[in-house]
Amino acid sequence: MEVRVLFWAFKRAPPTGALFHGPCAEDSFAIETPVPLRINEIFHSVQGESTWMGAPCVFVRLTGCPLRCGYCDTEYAFRQGAMRERADVLREVLSYDCDLVEITGGEPLAQREAFDLIRELLDAGRTVLIETSGAIGTAGVDPRAHIILDIKTPGSGEAARMDWSNVDRLRAHDEVKFVICSRSDYEFAREATRTHRLVERCRCVLFSPVHEQPRGVEIGGMQGLSPRDLAAWVLADGLRVRVQMQLHKIIWEPQTRGV
Ligand code: SF4
Repeated sequence: MEVRVLFWAFKRAPPTGALFHGPCAEDSFAIETPVPLRINEIFHSVQGESTWMGAPCVFVRLTGCPLRCGYCDTEYAFRQGAMRERADVLREVLSYDCDLVEITGGEPLAQREAFDLIRELLDAGRTVLIETSGAIGTAGVDPRAHIILDIKTPGSGEAARMDWSNVDRLRAHDEVKFVICSRSDYEFAREATRTHRLVERCRCVLFSPVHEQPRGVEIGGMQGLSPRDLAAWVLADGLRVRVQMQLHKIIWEPQTRGV
């Protein structure tokens, strides 16, 4: 069986296979063990965010994330998931008559095998979107993939985890997303957009009003931000960004899984 190094974002799994939160210095790059992908769910739906919104898409949700954003709506993906061989995952995704695939999480780039899965999906002719938190380096991602890079605002509680070198690596076909929790988050996003010339450098800059999220087991929860307020701020400042709502939360109940 193929042997790989377990990526730093996960601590050593106990016999139960459960994953822990955050990096562990003693274990960094130290565990050599067969590492299939840990998959939370694979499903077919319509894309709910980004410029690909509304397009039919196969989603591959990987288990685990080193962050704990207060508004996280996929807390169930922090630990739940089954270990699956990459070839098995690839076979299932390609069984859908659908050209668009999103690799998401959790944090999809925290599992090194994901980089190979992305390449294999691209080789098979699929268009691949990667929804990533910004906390894990995107170097090594196949350049044919479309990265949708979160830049965490202060309101997320995880802004300090941002790896800003990911912004330097943005390509013209990538997108950037800010989840805006407040007026001060909006001002942070506005200044980051200007400072890093994001509108000029990538396909789209997305400003998304945070959706109300109840307190969870590991996340603090969040009050929603009025989309009208966000739209008014963007218009008043004349920003060339796109205000986006999460389409899947409009079509289905906001807490619905697998959509
Ligand atoms: S980065 Fe994404 S998956 Fe991870 S805690 Fe934040 S919102 Fe949830």
